Amino acid sequence: MSKIVLNSELLNKVFEGKEITSTDAYQIYQESENNPFEIYKASQILRNKNKRRIVTYSRKVFFNLINLCRDTCSYCTYKSEPGESKTSMMSKQDISSLASVGSKHKCTEALFVTGERPEQKYDEARLWLKENGFTSTAEYLVHASEIALNAGLFPHTNAGNLTKSEMSQLKKTNPSLGVMLENSSERLGEKGMPHEFAPSKNPRARIHVLENAGELSIPMTTGLLIGIGESPFEIIDSIFAIKSIHQKYGHIQEIILQNFQPKQDTAMRDVSGPEERYFKTMVALTRLIMPEMNIQIPPNLSPNSYPDFLQTGINDWGGDISNNS
Ligand code: SF4
Repeated sequence: MSKIVLNSELLNKVFEGKEITSTDAYQIYQESENNPFEIYKASQILRNKNKRRIVTYSRKVFFNLINLCRDTCSYCTYKSEPGESKTSMMSKQDISSLASVGSKHKCTEALFVTGERPEQKYDEARLWLKENGFTSTAEYLVHASEIALNAGLFPHTNAGNLTKSEMSQLKKTNPSLGVMLENSSERLGEKGMPHEFAPSKNPRARIHVLENAGELSIPMTTGLLIGIGESPFEIIDSIFAIKSIHQKYGHIQEIILQNFQPKQDTAMRDVSGPEERYFKTMVALTRLIMPEMNIQIPPNLSPNSYPDFLQTGINDWGGDISNNS
C-alpha cells in the first residue's frame, strides 16, 4: 500500500503495519478531538485493506428465552420483573416453530438470548426448568440449540457468564458464542455506577469467560457499551483488553460497539447518550488498534445515521437486534 501522509506520525505507524500501544492510542484520541476526520479516513483505509470493502450482516432469528435476569444494570430495558412481559420461559414448541419459520425464510443464524441465570433469583424460572427436566437455563439452552440446529440454523448463544463446562456443552451445537465485555474498568461497578447491582458485569468475570472460551477454542463475539460513565481512556483500555485476549487465543471473531441510548423506564433515563462524534472516534480507534478485526455497530441504535459509520471502518451490521447481556 502506498504511504498516506496523515497529520499524525502515529497514524502512519499504523499504516506501516506497526502495532500501536495504549499510550499511542490515548495520544491519537487527544490529537483527534478537534479534527477526527483523519482517523476516520485511516480507519476506512484499514477496513478496505483488510476486509476488501465488504460489509456483512447476519440473517438471523432472535430467540428471546426469558427476560428475567439475576442482575440489574442501570441502563437495561431488556430485563423484566414477574408480572411484566416475557417473564415465562420460551417453550420447546415455540422454539421449534420459530426455528422452522426462520429456516423457511432462509435465515442462517439462531440467536439465543436470556437474562443472567434467572433461576438463581426467580421461582418462575426455577420451577419451569424443574418441571421440564432441566437444572439450569444453560442446560435448557443446550437443548434449544439442538432444536435450532436440527431445523437448519446455526445457534449463537448470548447468555452472560457461562461456565467453562456450560460452554463446552454448547460448543457441540453453537459455532460461536457471545458475551459483551461492556468495559474493562471496575469503576463502573462502584456505588452509583451502572454495574453496581450487576456482579456478572465485573470485568474480571467477563474476561475469565472470554479466556475460558479461548481455552476451548470457541469463536467469540464480544464488545463494549459506550457512554455509560466511562472515560475515553477506559474505552481504549477495554479495546486493548480484548486485543490482549485475542493475541493469546486468536478466538475473538467480532467486536460490537454499542452506543448507550437512554430509555424512560430505566435508572439512567436522564443520562444523555454519547455524542455521535465521540462514538465514531471510538469506532475508528478500534479499527486502528485491531486493523484486522470484524467490527460491528448495530444499526438499530443509530437509526438515522448508521450508514455514516461506514466512514469509521466498520465491516459488519450484525443482525436485526442488539442485546446488552
Ligand atoms: S443488561 Fe443483561 S445482565 Fe444487565 S440487567 Fe439487562 S439482561 Fe441483566
